[in-house]
Amino acid sequence: MDVEVGEILDRRLAETPATDAEASVQAIVAVARELMAERDDVVALGVGAAGMVQLDGVMRFAPNVAWREFPLRERIQSAVGIPTLVENDANAAAWGEFRFGAGRGSSDMLLVTVGTGIGGGIVSGGRLFRGAYGFAGEIGHIIVEPGGPLCGCGNQGCWEQVASGRALGRLGREAAAEHPQSVLSELVDGDPSRVTGFIVTTAAQRSDPIAIEIMSKVGRRLGEGIAGLVNILDPDVVVVGGGVIDAGELLLEPARRAFVEAVEGPEHRPNVPLVPAVMGNDAGAVGAAELAWRELVAT
Ligand SMILES: [Zn+2]
Repeated sequence: MDVEVGEILDRRLAETPATDAEASVQAIVAVARELMAERDDVVALGVGAAGMVQLDGVMRFAPNVAWREFPLRERIQSAVGIPTLVENDANAAAWGEFRFGAGRGSSDMLLVTVGTGIGGGIVSGGRLFRGAYGFAGEIGHIIVEPGGPLCGCGNQGCWEQVASGRALGRLGREAAAEHPQSVLSELVDGDPSRVTGFIVTTAAQRSDPIAIEIMSKVGRRLGEGIAGLVNILDPDVVVVGGGVIDAGELLLEPARRAFVEAVEGPEHRPNVPLVPAVMGNDAGAVGAAELAWRELVAT
């Protein structure tokens, strides 16, 4: 990546096998070596990885890869031989959007990524906020509905269970069972168990009132949660990314309304815009690369 403008110069995709910690490292190293062999101006490597990345680059726990207490940064760096930074993927994405995307020009930005779950990243005073150990920004697991739906983290009623793509899917399955004549139900040939968040979004885009009501409900939960985070962090912009953002205003509009109702003293604070992310999946890679350059090369 060109660090001045955030432009991606080349890209490669490789599988990281979910059950094999070693093979996942080897896949990353192979891609890095391949790119380095073709260019002579690669000065550092930035890696965005999903999981609890400690400040020293140890992956303490990765929910989707077999890394447990794994010295990820050290292992990659010793294999590629250039300065390497490993950052949590959502934190890296927040940094990418802050530097080159929807958060450009802001000083304090909150990124909320809404996909199957909810992830996040915080930029405070122009710097990536990592916390004492590197684990900051895990905003999806605040319990907002005690006794609510069971979460992958083991708790019940986490924010990501009621305000994400998973919530759209769950409410959609219930609604499709209740309303067999709905567009929602037609889209799955009358089989409610097949309804996903994507199906609900599609039905809402086709003006199905039941799907629109679900989007509105989930959007409100999203906006309420963002209001709580804005009360804590006081950002000047909230960037909303992730797959669910394909739904656009169907989700963002109710989120904005609920946000303004729930945030403390809305009439006494500047408007905090909720804007869609613009970099998509590139944000994490670009952010990790820029962080690696900034923290390992430019200093
Ligand atoms: Zn949770």
